[in-house]
Amino acid sequence: MTRRLYYEDPYLREFQARVVEALTWGEAPAVVLDQTAFYPEGGGQPADRGWLNHIPVVDVQTRPEDRAVVHVLESPLPVGAEVVGRLDWDRRFDHMQQHTAQHILSQAFLRLFDAQTVGFHLGERYTTIDLDRGDLPSDAFGRAEALANQVIEENRPVRPRFVDAETLAQLSLRKPPRVEGPIRLVEVEDFDRVPCGGTHVSRTGEIGMLALVRTERYKGGYRVTFLAGRRARADYARRRELLARLGELLTCGEEEMLPRVERLLQEVKQLQAERRAWREGQVALLAQSLLAQARPLGAWQVVRHVSSDLTGEEMRKLAGLLRQHAGTLVLLGWEEEGKGRILLAAAPDVDLHMGQLIRDVLVPVGGRGGGRPEWAEGGLPRGEDLESVLEQAERRVGREERLTINE
Ligand SMILES: [Zn+2]
Repeated sequence: MTRRLYYEDPYLREFQARVVEALTWGEAPAVVLDQTAFYPEGGGQPADRGWLNHIPVVDVQTRPEDRAVVHVLESPLPVGAEVVGRLDWDRRFDHMQQHTAQHILSQAFLRLFDAQTVGFHLGERYTTIDLDRGDLPSDAFGRAEALANQVIEENRPVRPRFVDAETLAQLSLRKPPRVEGPIRLVEVEDFDRVPCGGTHVSRTGEIGMLALVRTERYKGGYRVTFLAGRRARADYARRRELLARLGELLTCGEEEMLPRVERLLQEVKQLQAERRAWREGQVALLAQSLLAQARPLGAWQVVRHVSSDLTGEEMRKLAGLLRQHAGTLVLLGWEEEGKGRILLAAAPDVDLHMGQLIRDVLVPVGGRGGGRPEWAEGGLPRGEDLESVLEQAERRVGREERLTINE
């Protein structure tokens, strides 16, 4: 059984130990030590990282059978070796800040709103707790955050201690213990008491600050995402930088940003509406000019046009305008995301099937499309030439026409 030094002193970042077992964990070499300051993953808190002598410790796990602490290494160490263990202290202290902040925030939600924490995850970037109540008032999150920060400011002692079942029975706890035997309690003085095997700061002031960053509905309750300590400060710095960049772009101070962005969005909306109206006018003009150049094809007239600047929506409008003219066949092409699109449309008095025609010209070149007798659309494979496909369509119509005339 490994002696867990982090229980005795969570601030211990360097220690001496002896390798009592060498093994492989998964595929990797690993060792069990006679004692360790490395925290193994558990209770929502990630494993520590660091070094044994100069060998990186890449993971730390508890072996379920005998609760031994297994240090997974980058390269092996022999049994009997004397080692100096060093923690990646920045990482561990960050975990201590997040974890202690979690205790305080969970108690804040319980005291203020009778909302119990039913989930906890300490991630690489964010920490989350899941609350069991989905009917919290809208100011609940701000109030819980304020109470948690007050407890942090009050710099209360945080004390872990092991208690037996008899003592335990006389204490009120935020949550019942999940394991048997002597129980490790962690107390934030006069505020919170809960069974926990994790690592914590020794006074709440060391957390510095706690900031909620997101709240969302989750499994009938809420998931609350927060940052504590250095993470919260780094986030503050990032937001300050972001505001400074926005201020440069908008050439204004923080207070003017919101009205300025609102005004800009209003202007964009108006310009978009004006642009749409103007382009619609351009489409109508183009329709007139194309009709003026329409080529006769037997009893009908054909308009063939490939556009390099109109959108699909505008091309559909154009086709709609053109097919209002009796006897008109419309063959349009344009590009969308580097691929050709074609639209074939016919005036109501043209008795050709556009859906059939589009399949006849697209299938041989590996394209896809279909539609109704008077309107069909399809796409070409990348690299296929729009002009030649439309030319094919026109030629086919010409043959149909000759056939019709012959009859
Ligand atoms: Zn804890």
